[in-house]
Amino acid sequence: MNGVVTTEAVLRSAFGTDGGVGHLLIDGAWVPAAAGSTFEVVDPGTEEVVGRVAEASAADVDAAVAAARRAFDEERWLRLSSTQRGVVLWRVAELIEARSEELARLESLDVGVPVSQAKPMVAEAVNQFRYFAGWADKIQGTTVDLGTAERRLQGATYREPVGVVAMIVPWNAPLIAMSMKLAPALAAGCTCVLKPSEEAPLSALALGRILLEAGVPAGVINIVTGFGETGAAMAEHPGVDKISFTGSTEVGRKIVAAATGNLKKVSLELGGKSPVIVLPDADLAAAAAGIALGVFWNSGQICTSGTRLFAHADIYDELVDGIAEQGRAMAMGYGADPDVVLGPLVSRRQLDRVAGYVDGGVAAGARVVCGGKRVGEKGFYYEPTVLADARPEMAIVREEIFGPVLAALSFTDLDAAIASANDTEYGLAGSVWTRDVALAHRIARRLRGGRIGVNIHRAGGVQMPVGGFKQSGWGRENGPDALEGYLETKSVVTLLDR
Ligand code: NAD
Repeated sequence: MNGVVTTEAVLRSAFGTDGGVGHLLIDGAWVPAAAGSTFEVVDPGTEEVVGRVAEASAADVDAAVAAARRAFDEERWLRLSSTQRGVVLWRVAELIEARSEELARLESLDVGVPVSQAKPMVAEAVNQFRYFAGWADKIQGTTVDLGTAERRLQGATYREPVGVVAMIVPWNAPLIAMSMKLAPALAAGCTCVLKPSEEAPLSALALGRILLEAGVPAGVINIVTGFGETGAAMAEHPGVDKISFTGSTEVGRKIVAAATGNLKKVSLELGGKSPVIVLPDADLAAAAAGIALGVFWNSGQICTSGTRLFAHADIYDELVDGIAEQGRAMAMGYGADPDVVLGPLVSRRQLDRVAGYVDGGVAAGARVVCGGKRVGEKGFYYEPTVLADARPEMAIVREEIFGPVLAALSFTDLDAAIASANDTEYGLAGSVWTRDVALAHRIARRLRGGRIGVNIHRAGGVQMPVGGFKQSGWGRENGPDALEGYLETKSVVTLLDR
């Protein structure tokens, strides 16, 4: 199973010969954790330990927040012109692009995602920095004439950075998740403390090097690696003005509670259980291929995965078989192999979670059409799985599994199917498959989710807002909405004459 490129070569090309991944980035310097603690980084494809990273304590979080605060107060970033901030962000994009091969291999090593999928993830990170580089010098306020004929006033609004932002991201697509936060926050003029997931910290450390090399001043970007406790220290820290979180709905709730101390601003990108509605007139071959990609890509470890299939009874069997066929045909293996499309899950915990849901679904009466088992004994590989005869009350239909598992239900009444699709605490994404585009739009408007695909499950880009209805989140990332999340509006009113 060991790959085409050695682990040592991947780490050497990203971090140089010192292999220096065991440090935190605080105030422009790479420093060990104050208590000297470290934790293992495991390759999910082989279960081998590939390195150790620093485990930040609350004291390290204090130091990182203090550095970000100093950088903000001293205007180390803001006093560059907005044009110059854009130039630096553009340079970040160029450096990521120049190193896209090595970053894709690093992400693959850490997350298990096949390089064929890690490459578009890196490309999306490039897009984020390019797009928000363009915004940096286009953040503008307004002027307003105020007062009376006798007492004229002039109002001006200023758009100002929200301040010190703590960013916490999950492991499933770290480069994208980090870039979706850093690019708009830096364009807005904020300073940042970033924590990657304990499961996949390496690309954050590589990105930190790139940000410094591009010219982001010391203290403007600080990176702390660690577990949930490190994140909790960030979420409750009184020196943080805003917390931007991507992760599970369960932890999202804890973030909200922790943020109440100083009423910091909060934005949340949380879990999903996205519906896929297929009508009898859909192009079934295209739908089967698209739905399979929508649920099995990155082994289903994507928040917007289409995990609940509602197929019209007339085409249910044919479609379910078609998706299963697509799943069986997907080449599974070590992520560095360029022909692989299904890598391992990120961890043993995730493997056990996925297996537990599938076993529970089968025990509750679901039928395995394909998959349903772990593959091999080394590495956290799990077969792409289609479970037919699912019922709305089953846990496989109600709860986020975050693995390559599709629960299939059939319908005859479209209104009932839409109601069922909306019968969830989540509201992140969804898709509709039909040749009737007007009907597709009508259904899309009735689905309670932040992003709906028509004849495609997951599509978008940095220009298109993403985020959750209901318990899938607060706020939007991508596009101008993302920038808004890192800005405050100030009114200044001047007395012109008496
Ligand atoms: P998670 O919520 O367990 O962890 C996310 C991050 O939060 C990690 O960095 C973790 O260390 C940190 N954390 C854990 N406990 C914390 C606490 N008490 N306080 C502060 N931080 C804490 O999620 P995960 O397992 O890493 O990722 C999978 C989840 O992320 C899924 O639910 C998925 O849907 C979601 N996700 C959402 C989006 C989106 O854009 N909506 C994108 C990707 C993933």
